[in-house]
Amino acid sequence: MNVLAKQPSPFKPAQRLSAIGVSEILKVTGLAAQMKREGQNVIILGAGEPDFDTPEPIKDAAARAMRDGATKYTALDGSPELKAAIRAKFKRDNGLDFAQDEITVSAGAKQVLFNAMMATLDPGDEVIIPTPFWVTYADIVAIAGGTPVLVPCSEANGFRLSPEDLARAITPRTRWLMLNSPSNPSGAAYSEHQYRPILDVLLKHPSVWLMVDDIYEHIIYDGFRFVTPVAIEPALRNRTLTVNGVSKAYAMTGWRIGYGAGPSALIKAMAVVQSQSTSCPSSISQAAAIEALTGPQDVIADRCRSFQQRRDLVVDALNSIEGISCRVPEGAFYTFASCAGLIGKTTPDGRVVEDDTVFADYLLRAAGVAVVPGSAFGLAPYFRISYATSAAELRDACQRIAAAAARLL
Ligand code: PMP
Repeated sequence: MNVLAKQPSPFKPAQRLSAIGVSEILKVTGLAAQMKREGQNVIILGAGEPDFDTPEPIKDAAARAMRDGATKYTALDGSPELKAAIRAKFKRDNGLDFAQDEITVSAGAKQVLFNAMMATLDPGDEVIIPTPFWVTYADIVAIAGGTPVLVPCSEANGFRLSPEDLARAITPRTRWLMLNSPSNPSGAAYSEHQYRPILDVLLKHPSVWLMVDDIYEHIIYDGFRFVTPVAIEPALRNRTLTVNGVSKAYAMTGWRIGYGAGPSALIKAMAVVQSQSTSCPSSISQAAAIEALTGPQDVIADRCRSFQQRRDLVVDALNSIEGISCRVPEGAFYTFASCAGLIGKTTPDGRVVEDDTVFADYLLRAAGVAVVPGSAFGLAPYFRISYATSAAELRDACQRIAAAAARLL
Protein backbone atom coordinates (compact mmCIF):
# COMPACT_ATOMS: atom_id res chain seq x y z
CA MET A 1 0.00 0.00 0.00
CA ASN A 2 1.25 3.47 -0.82
CA VAL A 3 1.64 5.04 2.61
CA LEU A 4 1.40 8.49 1.05
CA ALA A 5 -2.07 7.77 -0.39
CA LYS A 6 -4.73 9.83 1.35
CA GLN A 7 -6.60 7.88 4.01
CA PRO A 8 -10.12 8.95 4.98
CA SER A 9 -9.81 10.92 8.19
CA PRO A 10 -11.61 9.66 11.29
CA PHE A 11 -12.42 13.29 12.09
CA LYS A 12 -15.61 13.77 14.10
CA PRO A 13 -16.72 17.29 15.03
CA ALA A 14 -17.67 18.09 18.62
CA GLN A 15 -21.35 18.06 19.53
CA ARG A 16 -21.27 21.80 20.13
CA LEU A 17 -20.74 22.42 16.44
CA SER A 18 -23.91 20.58 15.47
CA ALA A 19 -26.08 23.70 15.86
CA ILE A 20 -23.89 25.71 13.51
CA GLY A 21 -24.34 25.53 9.76
CA VAL A 22 -22.08 26.86 7.04
CA SER A 23 -22.92 30.53 6.71
CA GLU A 24 -25.05 31.41 3.69
CA ILE A 25 -22.79 34.45 3.24
CA LEU A 26 -19.77 32.20 2.80
CA LYS A 27 -21.70 29.94 0.41
CA VAL A 28 -22.74 32.82 -1.84
CA THR A 29 -19.39 34.61 -1.79
CA GLY A 30 -17.55 31.30 -2.24
CA LEU A 31 -19.55 30.42 -5.35
CA ALA A 32 -19.17 33.97 -6.68
CA ALA A 33 -15.40 33.90 -6.16
CA GLN A 34 -15.21 30.57 -7.98
CA MET A 35 -17.20 31.99 -10.94
CA LYS A 36 -14.81 34.94 -10.99
CA ARG A 37 -11.78 32.64 -11.06
CA GLU A 38 -13.34 30.84 -14.00
CA GLY A 39 -13.33 34.13 -15.87
CA GLN A 40 -16.96 35.21 -15.42
CA ASN A 41 -17.77 38.84 -14.88
CA VAL A 42 -19.14 38.78 -11.32
CA ILE A 43 -19.77 41.69 -8.95
CA ILE A 44 -19.64 40.64 -5.32
CA LEU A 45 -21.75 42.79 -3.02
CA GLY A 46 -21.20 40.66 0.06
CA ALA A 47 -18.24 42.35 1.75
CA GLY A 48 -18.60 43.21 5.41
CA GLU A 49 -15.73 45.69 5.34
CA PRO A 50 -15.00 49.17 4.03
CA ASP A 51 -13.27 49.18 0.64
CA PHE A 52 -11.07 52.09 1.81
CA ASP A 53 -7.55 51.51 3.07
CA THR A 54 -6.42 52.09 6.66
CA PRO A 55 -5.36 55.77 6.95
CA GLU A 56 -1.59 56.38 6.65
CA PRO A 57 -1.01 57.85 10.16
CA ILE A 58 -2.40 54.62 11.63
CA LYS A 59 -0.06 52.49 9.53
CA ASP A 60 2.82 54.77 10.51
CA ALA A 61 2.03 54.28 14.20
CA ALA A 62 2.18 50.51 13.70
CA ALA A 63 5.50 50.74 11.88
CA ARG A 64 6.89 52.94 14.65
CA ALA A 65 5.70 50.49 17.30
CA MET A 66 7.47 47.62 15.53
CA ARG A 67 10.68 49.63 15.21
CA ASP A 68 10.53 50.63 18.88
CA GLY A 69 10.26 47.02 20.01
CA ALA A 70 6.55 46.81 20.83
CA THR A 71 6.69 43.23 19.65
CA LYS A 72 6.04 41.39 22.89
CA TYR A 73 2.98 40.24 24.83
CA THR A 74 1.06 43.14 26.33
CA ALA A 75 -1.26 43.07 29.32
CA LEU A 76 -3.76 40.27 28.77
CA ASP A 77 -6.82 42.22 27.68
CA GLY A 78 -5.21 45.35 26.30
CA SER A 79 -2.29 47.63 27.10
CA PRO A 80 -2.90 50.40 29.67
CA GLU A 81 -2.20 52.96 26.90
CA LEU A 82 -4.88 51.52 24.61
CA LYS A 83 -7.34 51.24 27.48
CA ALA A 84 -6.70 54.92 28.23
CA ALA A 85 -7.39 55.77 24.57
CA ILE A 86 -10.64 53.76 24.69
CA ARG A 87 -11.73 55.50 27.88
CA ALA A 88 -11.05 58.86 26.21
CA LYS A 89 -13.05 57.76 23.17
CA PHE A 90 -16.07 56.83 25.33
CA LYS A 91 -15.84 60.23 27.02
CA ARG A 92 -15.46 62.17 23.76
CA ASP A 93 -18.01 60.33 21.62
CA ASN A 94 -20.53 59.03 24.14
CA GLY A 95 -20.15 61.20 27.26
CA LEU A 96 -19.38 58.05 29.30
CA ASP A 97 -16.78 57.63 32.04
CA PHE A 98 -15.42 54.12 32.36
CA ALA A 99 -12.66 53.01 34.71
CA GLN A 100 -9.70 51.08 33.37
CA ASP A 101 -10.96 47.79 34.88
CA GLU A 102 -14.25 48.25 33.01
CA ILE A 103 -12.52 48.04 29.61
CA THR A 104 -11.42 44.96 27.69
CA VAL A 105 -9.60 44.63 24.35
CA SER A 106 -9.73 41.58 22.09
CA ALA A 107 -8.92 40.44 18.56
CA GLY A 108 -11.98 42.15 17.09
CA ALA A 109 -15.45 42.93 18.38
CA LYS A 110 -16.27 39.35 17.48
CA GLN A 111 -13.92 38.03 20.15
CA VAL A 112 -15.35 40.46 22.71
CA LEU A 113 -18.76 38.92 22.08
CA PHE A 114 -17.34 35.42 22.17
CA ASN A 115 -15.61 36.03 25.49
CA ALA A 116 -18.78 37.52 26.97
CA MET A 117 -20.96 34.58 25.98
CA MET A 118 -18.38 31.97 27.03
CA ALA A 119 -18.03 33.74 30.37
CA THR A 120 -21.74 33.96 31.15
CA LEU A 121 -23.87 31.26 29.50
CA ASP A 122 -24.81 27.93 30.99
CA PRO A 123 -26.69 25.25 29.02
CA GLY A 124 -30.27 26.30 28.44
CA ASP A 125 -29.64 30.00 29.04
CA GLU A 126 -31.47 32.10 26.51
CA VAL A 127 -30.24 35.08 24.51
CA ILE A 128 -32.75 37.26 22.73
CA ILE A 129 -31.63 38.29 19.24
CA PRO A 130 -33.85 40.59 17.17
CA THR A 131 -33.92 39.55 13.50
CA PRO A 132 -32.67 40.27 10.90
CA PHE A 133 -29.38 39.79 12.74
CA TRP A 134 -25.66 39.35 12.19
CA VAL A 135 -25.48 35.55 12.02
CA THR A 136 -22.46 35.40 14.30
CA TYR A 137 -24.61 36.34 17.32
CA ALA A 138 -26.64 33.14 17.19
CA ASP A 139 -23.65 30.97 16.38
CA ILE A 140 -21.58 32.34 19.27
CA VAL A 141 -24.50 31.79 21.65
CA ALA A 142 -24.83 28.21 20.38
CA ILE A 143 -21.09 27.48 20.71
CA ALA A 144 -21.21 28.82 24.26
CA GLY A 145 -24.02 26.37 25.04
CA GLY A 146 -26.85 28.91 25.14
CA THR A 147 -30.09 29.05 23.19
CA PRO A 148 -30.65 31.88 20.72
CA VAL A 149 -34.21 33.21 20.85
CA LEU A 150 -34.92 34.97 17.57
CA VAL A 151 -37.51 37.75 17.61
CA PRO A 152 -38.60 39.00 14.17
CA CYS A 153 -38.60 42.76 13.62
CA SER A 154 -40.82 43.87 10.77
CA GLU A 155 -39.86 46.31 8.06
CA ALA A 156 -42.99 48.26 9.05
CA ASN A 157 -41.27 48.89 12.42
CA GLY A 158 -38.05 49.89 10.64
CA PHE A 159 -36.51 46.46 11.40
CA ARG A 160 -36.42 47.57 15.05
CA LEU A 161 -37.44 45.46 18.04
CA SER A 162 -40.81 46.37 19.48
CA PRO A 163 -40.98 46.63 23.29
CA GLU A 164 -44.05 44.36 23.32
CA ASP A 165 -42.22 41.62 21.43
CA LEU A 166 -39.25 41.98 23.75
CA ALA A 167 -41.44 41.69 26.86
CA ARG A 168 -43.08 38.55 25.42
CA ALA A 169 -39.72 36.94 24.63
CA ILE A 170 -38.26 37.32 28.14
CA THR A 171 -38.39 34.17 30.31
CA PRO A 172 -36.72 33.21 33.59
CA ARG A 173 -33.90 31.71 31.47
CA THR A 174 -33.14 34.96 29.57
CA ARG A 175 -29.56 36.07 30.24
CA TRP A 176 -28.98 38.63 27.50
CA LEU A 177 -30.64 40.84 24.92
CA MET A 178 -28.39 41.64 21.96
CA LEU A 179 -28.89 44.91 20.11
CA ASN A 180 -26.98 46.27 17.14
CA SER A 181 -27.38 49.85 15.95
CA PRO A 182 -26.75 50.70 13.13
CA SER A 183 -27.45 47.14 12.13
CA ASN A 184 -25.82 44.59 9.95
CA PRO A 185 -27.72 43.59 7.78
CA SER A 186 -30.55 46.17 7.77
CA GLY A 187 -28.68 49.45 8.29
CA ALA A 188 -31.46 50.40 10.73
CA ALA A 189 -30.47 52.41 13.80
CA TYR A 190 -32.22 53.33 17.05
CA SER A 191 -32.56 56.97 18.02
CA GLU A 192 -32.68 57.82 21.73
CA HIS A 193 -36.45 58.04 21.46
CA GLN A 194 -36.65 54.60 19.80
CA TYR A 195 -34.35 52.99 22.37
CA ARG A 196 -36.30 54.36 25.35
CA PRO A 197 -39.26 51.89 25.45
CA ILE A 198 -36.87 48.93 24.97
CA LEU A 199 -34.72 50.09 27.86
CA ASP A 200 -37.86 50.55 29.98
CA VAL A 201 -38.71 46.88 29.46
CA LEU A 202 -35.19 45.93 30.57
CA LEU A 203 -35.54 48.06 33.70
CA LYS A 204 -38.47 45.83 34.68
CA HIS A 205 -36.32 42.69 34.28
CA PRO A 206 -33.22 43.14 36.44
CA SER A 207 -31.79 39.70 35.63
CA VAL A 208 -31.54 40.39 31.88
CA TRP A 209 -28.24 41.81 30.63
CA LEU A 210 -27.82 43.97 27.56
CA MET A 211 -25.14 43.55 24.91
CA VAL A 212 -25.02 46.47 22.50
CA ASP A 213 -22.91 46.24 19.39
CA ASP A 214 -21.96 49.78 18.37
CA ILE A 215 -19.40 48.79 15.74
CA TYR A 216 -21.12 50.93 13.06
CA GLU A 217 -21.41 53.95 15.38
CA HIS A 218 -19.56 56.27 13.04
CA ILE A 219 -21.15 55.19 9.76
CA ILE A 220 -24.38 57.17 9.94
CA TYR A 221 -26.23 59.42 7.51
CA ASP A 222 -28.54 62.40 7.17
CA GLY A 223 -27.42 63.88 10.48
CA PHE A 224 -28.67 60.86 12.45
CA ARG A 225 -27.70 61.23 16.12
CA PHE A 226 -26.02 58.06 17.30
CA VAL A 227 -26.57 57.21 20.94
CA THR A 228 -25.62 54.20 23.05
CA PRO A 229 -28.01 52.77 25.68
CA VAL A 230 -25.84 53.33 28.78
CA ALA A 231 -25.71 57.03 27.91
CA ILE A 232 -29.53 57.09 27.81
CA GLU A 233 -30.18 54.97 30.89
CA PRO A 234 -27.35 54.92 33.45
CA ALA A 235 -29.40 52.50 35.59
CA LEU A 236 -28.57 49.79 33.04
CA ARG A 237 -24.85 50.38 33.28
CA ASN A 238 -24.21 47.64 35.84
CA ARG A 239 -25.58 45.00 33.44
CA THR A 240 -24.64 46.25 29.98
CA LEU A 241 -21.70 45.33 27.79
CA THR A 242 -21.04 48.04 25.20
CA VAL A 243 -19.09 46.57 22.28
CA ASN A 244 -17.20 48.55 19.68
CA GLY A 245 -14.02 48.37 17.62
CA VAL A 246 -11.83 50.01 15.03
CA SER A 247 -12.64 47.68 12.11
CA LYS A 248 -15.40 49.66 10.44
CA ALA A 249 -14.79 53.29 11.46
CA TYR A 250 -11.11 53.29 10.52
CA ALA A 251 -11.10 50.60 7.79
CA MET A 252 -9.04 48.31 10.03
CA THR A 253 -10.78 44.95 9.64
CA GLY A 254 -7.50 43.07 9.20
CA TRP A 255 -5.85 44.55 12.29
CA ARG A 256 -8.23 42.71 14.64
CA ILE A 257 -8.88 45.11 17.48
CA GLY A 258 -12.26 45.32 19.19
CA TYR A 259 -13.16 46.46 22.67
CA GLY A 260 -15.90 46.32 25.26
CA ALA A 261 -16.94 48.35 28.29
CA GLY A 262 -18.94 46.87 31.13
CA PRO A 263 -19.04 46.03 34.85
CA SER A 264 -15.59 45.03 36.10
CA ALA A 265 -16.76 41.58 37.31
CA LEU A 266 -17.90 40.70 33.77
CA ILE A 267 -14.75 42.18 32.22
CA LYS A 268 -12.62 40.07 34.59
CA ALA A 269 -14.49 36.88 33.69
CA MET A 270 -14.07 37.65 29.98
CA ALA A 271 -10.32 38.05 30.51
CA VAL A 272 -10.23 34.52 31.93
CA VAL A 273 -11.68 33.20 28.65
CA GLN A 274 -9.20 35.25 26.65
CA SER A 275 -6.28 34.16 28.82
CA GLN A 276 -6.72 30.54 27.72
CA SER A 277 -7.55 31.19 24.07
CA THR A 278 -5.67 34.01 22.35
CA SER A 279 -3.96 35.93 25.18
CA CYS A 280 -3.42 39.57 24.30
CA PRO A 281 -4.39 41.01 20.92
CA SER A 282 -1.48 41.88 18.59
CA SER A 283 0.80 44.44 20.24
CA ILE A 284 1.35 46.18 16.88
CA SER A 285 -2.37 46.42 16.15
CA GLN A 286 -2.93 47.85 19.62
CA ALA A 287 -0.44 50.63 18.88
CA ALA A 288 -2.25 51.31 15.61
CA ALA A 289 -5.61 51.42 17.41
CA ILE A 290 -4.31 54.06 19.83
CA GLU A 291 -3.49 56.28 16.87
CA ALA A 292 -6.90 55.56 15.29
CA LEU A 293 -8.80 56.52 18.44
CA THR A 294 -6.71 59.52 19.49
CA GLY A 295 -5.48 60.87 16.12
CA PRO A 296 -7.36 63.12 13.69
CA GLN A 297 -10.96 61.95 13.29
CA ASP A 298 -11.89 63.83 10.10
CA VAL A 299 -11.30 60.75 7.95
CA ILE A 300 -14.50 59.31 9.42
CA ALA A 301 -16.73 62.11 8.13
CA ASP A 302 -15.06 62.11 4.70
CA ARG A 303 -15.69 58.42 4.24
CA CYS A 304 -19.21 58.69 5.59
CA ARG A 305 -20.04 61.22 2.90
CA SER A 306 -18.81 58.80 0.29
CA PHE A 307 -20.81 55.91 1.80
CA GLN A 308 -23.91 58.11 1.87
CA GLN A 309 -23.63 58.86 -1.85
CA ARG A 310 -23.39 55.15 -2.56
CA ARG A 311 -26.31 54.39 -0.25
CA ASP A 312 -28.44 56.92 -2.14
CA LEU A 313 -27.36 55.50 -5.48
CA VAL A 314 -28.27 51.92 -4.48
CA VAL A 315 -31.53 52.74 -2.68
CA ASP A 316 -32.79 54.88 -5.57
CA ALA A 317 -31.83 52.29 -8.16
CA LEU A 318 -33.42 49.41 -6.24
CA ASN A 319 -36.63 51.33 -5.59
CA SER A 320 -37.03 51.97 -9.31
CA ILE A 321 -37.15 48.20 -10.00
CA GLU A 322 -40.63 46.69 -10.12
CA GLY A 323 -41.01 43.99 -7.47
CA ILE A 324 -38.18 45.32 -5.29
CA SER A 325 -38.46 47.87 -2.51
CA CYS A 326 -35.85 49.21 -0.19
CA ARG A 327 -36.14 51.17 3.04
CA VAL A 328 -33.61 53.98 3.47
CA PRO A 329 -31.06 52.79 6.07
CA GLU A 330 -29.79 55.21 8.72
CA GLY A 331 -26.29 53.74 8.85
CA ALA A 332 -23.73 50.96 8.24
CA PHE A 333 -23.01 50.08 4.60
CA TYR A 334 -25.79 47.66 3.83
CA THR A 335 -29.22 47.84 2.26
CA PHE A 336 -31.78 45.18 3.10
CA ALA A 337 -34.22 45.21 0.18
CA SER A 338 -37.47 43.30 -0.13
CA CYS A 339 -37.95 41.05 -3.16
CA ALA A 340 -41.50 40.11 -2.09
CA GLY A 341 -42.86 41.43 -5.40
CA LEU A 342 -40.80 38.87 -7.34
CA ILE A 343 -41.59 35.76 -5.31
CA GLY A 344 -43.65 33.26 -7.35
CA LYS A 345 -42.34 34.49 -10.69
CA THR A 346 -40.46 32.23 -13.11
CA THR A 347 -36.92 32.60 -14.46
CA PRO A 348 -36.29 32.38 -18.24
CA ASP A 349 -35.05 28.82 -17.74
CA GLY A 350 -38.24 27.78 -15.99
CA ARG A 351 -37.27 27.92 -12.30
CA VAL A 352 -39.86 29.30 -9.89
CA VAL A 353 -38.51 32.03 -7.58
CA GLU A 354 -39.91 30.41 -4.45
CA ASP A 355 -37.94 32.45 -1.96
CA ASP A 356 -35.06 34.90 -1.50
CA THR A 357 -32.45 32.12 -1.65
CA VAL A 358 -33.63 31.18 -5.17
CA PHE A 359 -33.70 34.87 -6.10
CA ALA A 360 -30.11 35.43 -4.89
CA ASP A 361 -28.98 32.31 -6.74
CA TYR A 362 -30.71 33.57 -9.90
CA LEU A 363 -29.04 37.00 -9.59
CA LEU A 364 -25.64 35.35 -9.28
CA ARG A 365 -26.02 32.89 -12.14
CA ALA A 366 -28.04 35.03 -14.57
CA ALA A 367 -26.74 38.52 -13.79
CA GLY A 368 -23.36 37.92 -12.18
CA VAL A 369 -24.27 39.83 -9.01
CA ALA A 370 -23.64 38.25 -5.62
CA VAL A 371 -26.03 39.36 -2.88
CA VAL A 372 -26.90 37.55 0.36
CA PRO A 373 -30.47 36.29 0.85
CA GLY A 374 -32.30 37.79 3.83
CA SER A 375 -33.08 34.31 5.17
CA ALA A 376 -29.35 34.01 5.98
CA PHE A 377 -30.00 36.81 8.50
CA GLY A 378 -33.27 35.33 9.73
CA LEU A 379 -35.77 37.41 7.74
CA ALA A 380 -37.27 36.66 4.30
CA PRO A 381 -37.94 37.58 1.53
CA TYR A 382 -35.12 40.13 1.47
CA PHE A 383 -31.58 40.42 0.15
CA ARG A 384 -28.62 42.29 1.55
CA ILE A 385 -26.34 44.42 -0.56
CA SER A 386 -23.08 45.70 0.85
CA TYR A 387 -22.32 49.00 -0.88
CA ALA A 388 -18.72 49.15 0.34
CA THR A 389 -17.52 49.17 -3.25
CA SER A 390 -17.08 51.72 -6.05
CA ALA A 391 -20.00 53.75 -7.39
CA ALA A 392 -19.25 52.48 -10.92
CA GLU A 393 -19.53 48.88 -9.79
CA LEU A 394 -22.70 49.62 -7.82
CA ARG A 395 -24.30 51.29 -10.86
CA ASP A 396 -23.42 48.31 -13.03
CA ALA A 397 -24.74 45.87 -10.40
CA CYS A 398 -28.06 47.71 -10.03
CA GLN A 399 -28.54 47.76 -13.82
CA ARG A 400 -27.90 44.03 -13.93
CA ILE A 401 -30.37 43.41 -11.09
CA ALA A 402 -32.99 45.53 -12.90
CA ALA A 403 -32.47 43.62 -16.16
CA ALA A 404 -32.62 40.25 -14.39
CA ALA A 405 -35.79 41.23 -12.52
CA ALA A 406 -37.39 42.35 -15.79
CA ARG A 407 -36.71 38.93 -17.33
CA LEU A 408 -38.81 37.17 -14.66
CA LEU A 409 -42.26 36.16 -15.86
N1 PMP B 1 -20.55 43.37 14.71
C1 PMP B 1 -21.15 43.47 13.52
C2 PMP B 1 -22.58 43.84 13.48
C3 PMP B 1 -20.44 43.23 12.33
O1 PMP B 1 -21.05 43.35 11.15
C4 PMP B 1 -19.08 42.87 12.42
C5 PMP B 1 -18.24 42.60 11.19
N2 PMP B 1 -18.87 41.96 10.15
C6 PMP B 1 -18.50 42.76 13.68
C7 PMP B 1 -19.25 43.03 14.81
C8 PMP B 1 -17.08 42.28 13.88
O2 PMP B 1 -16.15 43.23 13.85
P1 PMP B 1 -14.62 42.93 14.21
O3 PMP B 1 -13.88 43.05 12.93
O4 PMP B 1 -14.27 43.98 15.19
O5 PMP B 1 -14.55 41.55 14.80
